[in-house]
Amino acid sequence: MHTAATNYPNSREEWQRGFITAKNIQDTEKNATHKSHNFWRRKLLPNKTDTGFILIDTGYSKNRAEIERELENAGCKTGTLNLLILTHGDFDHCGNCAYLSGKCGTKVAMHSGDRGMVEQGDMFYNRNMNFAVTGLGKLFLFFSRGNLKEEDRFAPDLFVKDGEDLVGFRFDAQVLHFPGHSEGSIGILTRTGDLFCGDLLENTKQPAKNSIVADKKAFADSIKKLKQLKIGTVYPGHGNPFHITQLT
Ligand SMILES: [Zn+2]
Repeated sequence: MHTAATNYPNSREEWQRGFITAKNIQDTEKNATHKSHNFWRRKLLPNKTDTGFILIDTGYSKNRAEIERELENAGCKTGTLNLLILTHGDFDHCGNCAYLSGKCGTKVAMHSGDRGMVEQGDMFYNRNMNFAVTGLGKLFLFFSRGNLKEEDRFAPDLFVKDGEDLVGFRFDAQVLHFPGHSEGSIGILTRTGDLFCGDLLENTKQPAKNSIVADKKAFADSIKKLKQLKIGTVYPGHGNPFHITQLT
């Protein structure tokens, strides 16, 4: 069961320090950005001295200019990006992480299960080798696009675990470990039930479970875990947001 509510501060003062308000959430949904590049930004409630953003995934490196423009348009400038958090280590989610982290001086958080993917650019790190020969055409297509380029590799600053909350980063959300697509896949669930699910679910044709699975048993367990959670809108790594009840 999702027990996040007990982990979160409830006093007015704590909220004023800079967590998301309902208004911010509506704004975020309205402005939520997702095209081909797999990233979500989230505006945090301004506190007295600054405003802040959190960026979930960073897309392909080839989309760098577009992402920078989107961030700028949203008012996210150097110094206001509080955290970069990666749902997993695939290159289409991490392509701009090293760059943005260097430019903005922002820490990068992810699950340790995928560290080799971003440190060594090895998409098979912690993935069963059967993964390489199953999934056929789609998987081949996926990998033929290449690994994380050498200049885009990095060592994460922080490793997050299942159940960890992000309150320290002024983000009222909890990390959930969802292994299966990769060992270190995580989701981020906000207090109000928005789930940033990485590649656990997708919405390329319709809301569905992701078909690229490295560990079937772990993936099935992650789906079971998902079904226990109180979720409203899902923001997938690929495709538009959808309501959890639309999941097939
Ligand atoms: Zn992926």
